[in-house]
Amino acid sequence: MPSLLQPARGTQPELLRQLRALIEAESPSNHIPELTACADLFAEQARALLPAIKIRRTPTPHGPILQLELKLPSSVSRKSQPKQLQILAIGHIDTVWPPGTLRTMPFRITRTRAHGPGILDMKAGLLQFLHAATILRELDQPAASPRSITLFVVPDEEIGSPSSRPLTESLARRSSLALVLEPGTGLEGRLKTARKGIADYTVDIRGRAAHAGVDFSAGASAILEAARQTERIAAFTRLDRGLTVNPGLITGGTATNTVAAHAQLRCDVRIARLRDFPALDRRFRTLRPVDPRCKISVTGGLNRPPMERTPAIAKLFAHAAQLAHQHLGLQLEESSTGGGSDGNFTAALGLPTLDGLGAIGEGAHAANESILLAPIAERIALLAILLQNL
Ligand SMILES: [Zn+2]
Repeated sequence: MPSLLQPARGTQPELLRQLRALIEAESPSNHIPELTACADLFAEQARALLPAIKIRRTPTPHGPILQLELKLPSSVSRKSQPKQLQILAIGHIDTVWPPGTLRTMPFRITRTRAHGPGILDMKAGLLQFLHAATILRELDQPAASPRSITLFVVPDEEIGSPSSRPLTESLARRSSLALVLEPGTGLEGRLKTARKGIADYTVDIRGRAAHAGVDFSAGASAILEAARQTERIAAFTRLDRGLTVNPGLITGGTATNTVAAHAQLRCDVRIARLRDFPALDRRFRTLRPVDPRCKISVTGGLNRPPMERTPAIAKLFAHAAQLAHQHLGLQLEESSTGGGSDGNFTAALGLPTLDGLGAIGEGAHAANESILLAPIAERIALLAILLQNL
């Protein structure tokens, strides 16, 4: 098979032109007109590259979802191999950057990089996928087995995927495997075969207000209680099990001369194994006040289940690594991360999921967000190889 690297290199100037337009269409989560405009632009770019592509657009309260469908020709007749492989590719169009970020962080290309808000996380990954599909189409090389490919692009990943999650899960149930176009890890672009799950908890504490000078003993300080509970909660962390509990926000009180009647603690939880969750949840829900005059109420729970490195995921990675080596001479590496993605949802349903297949760079959610130019063609070719041979 001729290397796909050459056509991938040839398509790079067009990709960078499209990338500029896509970055300049700012698309912060929760900003519906901006998200709509950016999704429309991406759909247009897809149609320009792949005229046969079918695009379904589903409006949600958090912006439009795009579902792009394409089929790859197969060398095998339907009769001899009736099982069609359903590949689900996943990405998001929203970014963490507020409108107007372009003024201080414009799209620009330097010697070795391209910069801009949302470029690494994850607009470049979306375009790399389109270009991978395009070079496969143009080469017209039949795939190993019949396969249909869905690219699912959501508008709400950065805020926990509240609208898109049910659709992602229903597509996952009908798919054979998932490829997530989030950025790779580090400047080597390692794939992600495990992600921690994310939970959050709000602990509300009611005490009893009193004048700090006149009637101190009548008061029950919610702040003091919150401090004591913070110590307890922080001790839920089990580093040896990849379980961390971070009491990240604390508020309370009304005045220095008043014993505080109210305090609130908010915690971020990262969890490597789903089976550790019920015990942790119970510990939160059974928190009891040290001062019996205080009352504690706890809300929250699991937002994203962990993506655990199951044997099926390990096998999928091994297959991908073998294909990358055989066709491109690439040495793929894997990694795990504490950050979540929509891959957490697909993996939790038992779907073999490979994440981190998008762009390579650094500074996601940071002012130095950028991608490396050198590996773009390699990543396009890698995706093309996987789409065709997995
Ligand atoms: Zn992302």
